[in-house]
Amino acid sequence: MRLLLLGGTGEARALAGMLGGHDVVTSLAGRVADPRLPEGEVRIGGFGGADGLAFWLEEHRIEAVVDATHPYAARITANANAAAVAVGVPALIVDRPSWPASPAWVRASSAGAAAATIQPGARVFLTIGRQHVGAFAEVDAWFLIRSIDAPDAALPAEHELLLARGPFGYDDELALLREHRIDTLVTKNSGGPATVAKLDAARALGVRIIVIDRPPLPLGAAVVENVDAAAEWVAQLARTAT
Ligand code: NAP
Repeated sequence: MRLLLLGGTGEARALAGMLGGHDVVTSLAGRVADPRLPEGEVRIGGFGGADGLAFWLEEHRIEAVVDATHPYAARITANANAAAVAVGVPALIVDRPSWPASPAWVRASSAGAAAATIQPGARVFLTIGRQHVGAFAEVDAWFLIRSIDAPDAALPAEHELLLARGPFGYDDELALLREHRIDTLVTKNSGGPATVAKLDAARALGVRIIVIDRPPLPLGAAVVENVDAAAEWVAQLARTAT
């Protein structure tokens, strides 16, 4: 089968390797300067919204779409779902399970809402990627900002930038929090093992944890939780198609 695999995650790279018997094109947004590339064909850059993606699917005779993008990449997920419906190809979302919410977390519906809950003078570890860092620019606190590439947005007056790519281990996260005397963590609920250690370290040190909630998935979409289930979905489709 000819598949479009929407990527930018470890799951997408794993799936590209697992779907070797198919004709797979992995698509990356092009956000990261030096992305980890999957096996097989790769294209990079946006499609031009849901309409552009629908056109691209037809032009490239795509038979199914597997969306293995990050749980917070809501726009591409909505566009992929709409485009697949529009051109009548089956689509699947790989949605890795959230980390279980703790009653101790402060939950925020957006980066702006998270910024509004930070206490003046706090020492904040901000690990939300680089896109929404601008929401914290005016907050009166000190920030350790970790992202893969430097954010483009205006940054808080008092900050240190740490450019790093996970996975991150527990001991290193604990040492980082201690070294910078962090008392507040702001994170997304990305799920998965690669970046969970900061939560464990923050809990161990009594750090205040602010979690930005996940965006909702498109209504009616087919969803699985992991790459094995996604590979099985593709295998079933292929069996039906023959
Ligand atoms: P987004 O807000 O949902 O998407 C914004 C636009 O970027 C989309 O409308 C689309 O442009 C383009 N785009 C996004 N993902 C794409 C893909 N895989 N292939 C081609 N175009 C794509 O996405 P985002 O949050 O910026 O994330 C961008 C990429 O980074 C995703 O692939 C995601 O898996 C990865 N990522 C995101 C996060 C995160 O926290 N958001 C974390 C880790 C990795 P057009 O409308 O022009 O098609």
